[in-house]
Amino acid sequence: MTIRLTSFLCGAWHAGAGPERPLTDATTEEVLATCRTGGVDLGAAFAHARGVGGPALRALSFAERGERLQALATAIHAHRDELLDLSTANAGTTRGDSKFDVDGGTATLAAYAELGRGLGDRRFLSDGPGVALGRTARFWGQHIQVPRLGVAVHVNAFNFPAWNMLEKAACALLAGMPVLEKPGTATALVAWRIAQIVVDSGVLPDGAFQFLAGGAGDLLDHLGPQDALAFTGSSATAAQLRAHPAVIRHNVRTNVEADSLNAAVLGPDVAEDSETFKLFVQNVVLDLRQKTGQKCTAVRRVLVPAARAGAAREALLARLGEIVTGDPRRRETTMGPLASAQQLRDVRTGIARLATAARVLAGGPEPIAERGWFVAPTLLEASDPEAEPVHRDEVFGPVATLIPYSGAAAEAAALVARGEGSLVGSLYTNDPAFAEAAVLALAPWHGRLWVGSDRMAEQSLPPGMVLPAMVHGGPGRAGGGEELGGERGLALYLQRVAVQGFKGLVAPAFGARAAETAGA
Ligand code: NAP
Repeated sequence: MTIRLTSFLCGAWHAGAGPERPLTDATTEEVLATCRTGGVDLGAAFAHARGVGGPALRALSFAERGERLQALATAIHAHRDELLDLSTANAGTTRGDSKFDVDGGTATLAAYAELGRGLGDRRFLSDGPGVALGRTARFWGQHIQVPRLGVAVHVNAFNFPAWNMLEKAACALLAGMPVLEKPGTATALVAWRIAQIVVDSGVLPDGAFQFLAGGAGDLLDHLGPQDALAFTGSSATAAQLRAHPAVIRHNVRTNVEADSLNAAVLGPDVAEDSETFKLFVQNVVLDLRQKTGQKCTAVRRVLVPAARAGAAREALLARLGEIVTGDPRRRETTMGPLASAQQLRDVRTGIARLATAARVLAGGPEPIAERGWFVAPTLLEASDPEAEPVHRDEVFGPVATLIPYSGAAAEAAALVARGEGSLVGSLYTNDPAFAEAAVLALAPWHGRLWVGSDRMAEQSLPPGMVLPAMVHGGPGRAGGGEELGGERGLALYLQRVAVQGFKGLVAPAFGARAAETAGA
């Protein structure tokens, strides 16, 4: 039976009206669900969040909001198996890939619950130490951060329906802002089920969480000066959102997480029989395979010193040959289909574009199954390291290109910079001088840098994994945004204010110690 997804707005579920959009089983192409958002009153939803949800959340301390995040994590985790199955059907993810999304989401909620506990009874944050501003200490300044009075509007991509929704919600709710979530439609089944669990749990105050299943409609028209817009998706959509009249008129605070041509750089010191080389091969292939390459942090460009290009090619091809592509419900499958028909079209077109500038070593754009959104893991090699499509086109699938370079850190950084800004860069080296030179040269183009070496190989989490304690985001093409990073993740939802006045008045009320007990 086809499920009709509903939107949770103003405290009730709405079926919507107008044309329906189908959500498919990525393996069988069967229509699993439909959704439509015509006729829903989003103006009323904004008013409900601003008038009901926001005040209720702001009445709670950080610790109390943190308790609610933990309760949500527990409630969602109790439905884990059901959510993993839905993900496998709708997004075509293997069980491991489904866990990456669903468990990643609950773990991020739990991490922010813990942060809330640490922030204690406060309802605002003191920001740094106070500062003497006058001739004497009498005239004093103190920065504070208070929750914004609007709605946190979250527009998310299709590839992480659980994690994307929960990592953004964790930060907004802990900061004290009500959430209006709009997931990517193609895989919204998992997000919708989570929304049901959140609502049924009764953990959040009325109006603190609303959910829009399907097209955005007039969502952005309602944005106002106290709202925040957090977007994850393509650069093309991000450009439309940024240019929206309401966003411009009200200077709506906007965070964008967009495309990224992440690079892995193998250092010239790394021998083929070293742990670091193994780690490099393992991580590059993981990024191709995991979530069928539909990961914003996946490596798209693989820079190898020309002297090691042969060894890298051979090792990567051998590991790629071990990938078992097929029905993600089967135990032996290690890579499922892409998430949607549109994705399959885009990825096939993208591979064909890359193939104009690079040689296909494995895979290619051809269909590999009669049914389902399948594509082969694809590795290409560029003979010209500066070939434009390789640094310009993000092919959002199991696709990466080998790029031989001289082995000099400055050249690697110059090539990586051609991608115009990335979420994460990974370096593989045991040479401190190369590591330092490369990190400093790459840093301005990245939100995160990951350095692999022999000493951490056994313990490291892969570079594609976004952790709540570390910032996620990147400059330029990557969107220019920043999410997570522990307490930093709350910044989008808080207004920083410099309070200036008599020290005897300002410091006791707003200084660090005062904030621990005072209400906002
Ligand atoms: P997308 O097509 O840009 O869509 C993203 C979201 O925007 C979806 O919810 C979509 O809704 C919505 N949307 C589209 N047009 C809109 C409009 N005019 N107004 C308001 N909302 C609108 O991206 P996608 O295909 O879902 O995701 C793939 C892209 O996301 C890739 O480029 C990938 O790199 C990027 N991504 C980045 C990150 C990161 O953290 N940096 C993470 C994941 C993905 P519908 O689904 O209803 O069309």
